[in-house]
Amino acid sequence: MLDQTLTEQLTSLKNGDYSSYELTDAYIKNIEKHRDLNCYISLNEKALEEAKRADLLRSKKEMKPLLGIPIAHKDIFCENEVKTTAGSKMLENFLSPYDATVVSKLREAGAVSIGKTNMDEFAMGSSNETSFFGPVKNPWDESRVPGGSSGGSAAAVSARLCSAATGTDTGGSIRQPASFCGITGLKPTYGRVSRWGMIAYASSLDQAGPMAISAEDCAIILREMSGYDEKDSTSSKLQVADYTSLISKPIDRVKIGIFRPLMEDLDTRVGKLLEETIRELEKNGVSFVEIELPNFGFAIPAYYVIAPAECSANLSRYDGVRFGYRCDNPIDLKDLYQRSRTEGLGREVKNRIMAGTFALTAGYYDAYYNKAQQVRRLIKNDFVEAFKKVDAIIAPTTPSAAFRLGEKSNRQKEMYLQDIYTTSANLAGLPALSMPAGFLNNLPIGAQLIGNYFDERLILSIAHLYQTQTDWHLTRPGKKE
Ligand code: GLN
Repeated sequence: MLDQTLTEQLTSLKNGDYSSYELTDAYIKNIEKHRDLNCYISLNEKALEEAKRADLLRSKKEMKPLLGIPIAHKDIFCENEVKTTAGSKMLENFLSPYDATVVSKLREAGAVSIGKTNMDEFAMGSSNETSFFGPVKNPWDESRVPGGSSGGSAAAVSARLCSAATGTDTGGSIRQPASFCGITGLKPTYGRVSRWGMIAYASSLDQAGPMAISAEDCAIILREMSGYDEKDSTSSKLQVADYTSLISKPIDRVKIGIFRPLMEDLDTRVGKLLEETIRELEKNGVSFVEIELPNFGFAIPAYYVIAPAECSANLSRYDGVRFGYRCDNPIDLKDLYQRSRTEGLGREVKNRIMAGTFALTAGYYDAYYNKAQQVRRLIKNDFVEAFKKVDAIIAPTTPSAAFRLGEKSNRQKEMYLQDIYTTSANLAGLPALSMPAGFLNNLPIGAQLIGNYFDERLILSIAHLYQTQTDWHLTRPGKKE
């Protein structure tokens, strides 16, 4: 049963091939077996009870779309029954008094909450190495990183330690680990999913999304987690499409844009895989045209001003008074603030708070923060122009396959360049997904599809079409030929 996709598991549960209790128990046993991957920060002790309840509902024919499906949540989503750490010492023992909207929506849809996955501290990183709880290992090669910041979620789906997982993506944190771990991950349009109860990193960029084996699986979860929420004023009132039934409808005359310079800058082997993906889609009636995205190259500098600026404001709430860690025996208030933050936050987080505070300081605000916002608008305008000609855009997700643990942890610039293909979708607020597109030296690598605003449906359909023709997404670590 662990070999099945979530969609197949729903059918098996319906047919009575096994119960949710058996399925959840099988995952818990597999989690035990793969403790060394360090995918989970906490397990939900009530998961089996929840599964039993799901079985009971099923026996009474009280059906729900995800009834009995064990889903893992990135440890950035507040959950009432399990602690929520955001991968930080600051929140090591934090128990939220409420569930995030994403958590409660999936629970209402019948999902079993199996546990909380490891992540880069406060979602800042591309390798999971900034987690206070230690790095996650890539199930394809344990000497390598799973990507970040949703690395625990990606590795857990890949190693079959849950049916699917939630993640968040501020600059690539769903798509990059999805690419490194050989799974499908979608960052929705900004505003599609409520951010309430999701610990904030950079609020104008943060968005939650599904991580699963297939695009079909992502579609079901996306449908259930999306929608307007009065507790998040940036969530959209636009009706949620039925992604699940739309995904297999034929897609006619779809035109995808390619921005050639992106391919030219790429490791030739990654470029070759992307060309193969394009050819596969062409065989299935999709056409490709060249487009221009003249400001794409400025996404990284703009992102690494805007995201730290917002994080410096968001993380000011961790002051040792209201939330989380407090230093021992402070001599006065200043000492309390200073030592609580110095001791409770990790190096990367402190770097970003400092950089962000600097960019927002009077005198530097115009030169850095304002400039970055102007560049952000130019990047968005380029996409708006491009989408007048095409229905979606194809791009690499990552410049390479998973790198080694420790390889980039002291090379900040190289680490930041990991996000070169992903940050622009966040800056523009567009939906984007990564789907498995092949292997390089036995390591999976993804291809990225960027969609127009609120057109998650189309990129999911294109990925689904691709996944009906290929089986990269079904290949499991340790089971590859
Ligand atoms: N890797 C990027 C960063 O370090 C993106 C993180 C994210 O999307 N949360 O900021």
